[in-house]
Amino acid sequence: MDEQHISYIALGSNQGARLDHLENAVEKLEGEPRITILASSSIYETKPVGVTDQPAFLNMVVKIATNYTPLDLLKVTQKIEESGGRQQKGTWGPRTIDLDILLFNNENIQLNLLQIPHPRMFERGFVLIPLQELEPNLRLNDGRGIDTYVNQLTDKEGVRKWRSSFGVEE
Ligand code: AMP
Repeated sequence: MDEQHISYIALGSNQGARLDHLENAVEKLEGEPRITILASSSIYETKPVGVTDQPAFLNMVVKIATNYTPLDLLKVTQKIEESGGRQQKGTWGPRTIDLDILLFNNENIQLNLLQIPHPRMFERGFVLIPLQELEPNLRLNDGRGIDTYVNQLTDKEGVRKWRSSFGVEE
């Protein structure tokens, strides 16, 4: 199966060497023979939402081409989370490295294991702002543009650009 799919993956870390965790995860994605990284956003620092008494997150989004199926891509992202020492402590808790599949082509996937578009992406500034940086003209499968969603955000102030990319301090 050689058909290439376009997917966007959100990465976040708020434990220990946050930048290293992001960098290692992107390197592991890059090292996958069936994944090509097409673009990466800047790195953003984000005040935690939900459980607020935890360290600030670093967040970014990467755009990939892959010929994995969505479920096989999920296996890859979970393998990277585990190798990054992620501990399962609930949806809102601290994490070494978290990878969420945001979009996969224009598909709508509703499985127990995997929902795409990611069900919580639309209210999260730390996801939508880097996604908009990568893809300012993106249209979601409801026909609405990414700018419409970004304008509706209530947590925008908590998300600020931290570095333009790995190793380059702004
Ligand atoms: P989280 O703690 O937010 O990383 O959620 C992990 C769980 O979300 C896993 O059990 C996945 O099966 C599930 N999940 C559902 N949809 C997605 C998605 N689009 N990307 C990543 N994990 C997902």
